[in-house]
Amino acid sequence: MSQMLPLRPVDRDGTFEARRFQVFTARNMDKIPGLDRMPEDERFAMRVVANVLPFRVNEYVINELIDWEKAPDDPIYQLTIPQRGMLAPALFDRMADVLRRDASREEINRVAWEIRNELNPHPAGQMKLNVPQHDGEKLEGMQHKYNETVLFFPSQGQVCHSYCTFCFRWAQFVGDKDLQFASNEAERLHAYLRDHREVSDLLLTGGDPMVMKTRKLEEYLDPLLAADLEHVQTVRLGTKALTFWPYRFVTDKDADDLLRLFERLVNSGRHVALMAHYNHPQELKTPIAEEAIRRIRDTGVEIRAQGPLLAHINDSSEAWAELWRKQVRLGIIPYYMFVERDTGARHYFEVPLARAWEIYRDAMKQVSGLGRTARGPSMSAGPGKVEVQGITEVQGEKVFVLRFIQGRNPDWVQRPFFAKFDPNATWLDQLQPAFGEDKFFFQDEYDAMLASVESD
Ligand SMILES: *Cc1c(COP(=O)(O)O)cnc(C)c1O
Ligand code: SF4
Repeated sequence: MSQMLPLRPVDRDGTFEARRFQVFTARNMDKIPGLDRMPEDERFAMRVVANVLPFRVNEYVINELIDWEKAPDDPIYQLTIPQRGMLAPALFDRMADVLRRDASREEINRVAWEIRNELNPHPAGQMKLNVPQHDGEKLEGMQHKYNETVLFFPSQGQVCHSYCTFCFRWAQFVGDKDLQFASNEAERLHAYLRDHREVSDLLLTGGDPMVMKTRKLEEYLDPLLAADLEHVQTVRLGTKALTFWPYRFVTDKDADDLLRLFERLVNSGRHVALMAHYNHPQELKTPIAEEAIRRIRDTGVEIRAQGPLLAHINDSSEAWAELWRKQVRLGIIPYYMFVERDTGARHYFEVPLARAWEIYRDAMKQVSGLGRTARGPSMSAGPGKVEVQGITEVQGEKVFVLRFIQGRNPDWVQRPFFAKFDPNATWLDQLQPAFGEDKFFFQDEYDAMLASVESD
């Protein structure tokens, strides 16, 4: 049952000491304080996985967020520290063998790439279908999938203060240029936006754009204040810095400049939203995390929360209910509960859609209306964002009730459709249409969209 949240009096003049940002990667992981109490085979497994999937964790996460008494079951440990189960046994053994043989760096890298290529590095057609064009040129570092929103991946923002073990953008972090879509051309972004008056929302994402210096962010964002970009009404910044490095907004040297930038955008009449990635209430347990939220909200920027549902981390209604309650108390608006995507260590983290919906519903029941604003569970699939609205029975057939929250064709949005119930399905492509239909209503149109990019 719900416990009382410890209330922390707001200390408006609170002083927080600056913290030096220190990071651990596969190279110096042996130095992580606390890890020495983990058994040897656990540490070896960690090294095996860290040679395939991205690994990076900073000292704040290690010392303040992870509860080492509970490791390896601690949710933040699972969120950041590689686990054996993240690779299928055959793939795990392939890398374990190479490491045990003390193979050369080249061989380790070659095997790492063989394994990565078996992990569906580009889910949901991201490389082909979503890349926009300007003056006949492909614009790398951008995605324009839904009419009103452009995603921009600034090249200086393609890392994070720590990496999440389940990250669906993991392929960007392991160093293959083909897998990275990043752009450092602020001007091209602005030119594209000038030409696309239908775009009301710009979403800066990554990696984590909050790893960028404020000066760099200003290059991307200040030009939005000009009259020719007035149609861009909303600026969203996708980030996990509120979890991994709240000092970014409090004590880092350019923290105050960042808040002033937020204020300029807000004062220009824009809606500015920090799309904060959260998975577990434990991410909100430190005074510095609360202080960062307070300072951001003081600028008029809204904070909306989103994140995937994950086995080993947050697959319980209690975790979500507590997360939502805590967010609402701190003035954060719950926005999305996602389904883990079909990539990377997915098989370790995935939760069947039926179970995901039960957790969602159960968590909703435990919070007040202000906590019931998160949509989900939602799959960001090729055709669009598809929400599991429920499970029901229609004339004797058990079905999933689904709807598009976002669609490649806006006309698909909000239309309910039905799939045969399947207790094990974890993704849209595993679902069959209900009532004996042979395809979903959007299938022909979506196939045509795929065919048109295949052919150019
Ligand atoms: C989720 C998403 C958006 C934003 O959708 P909203 O429903 O407006 O939050 C935009 N582009 C892509 C590719 C997305 O996945
Ligand atoms: S913060 Fe986001 S982009 Fe970065 S590793 Fe985590 S999920 Fe991936």
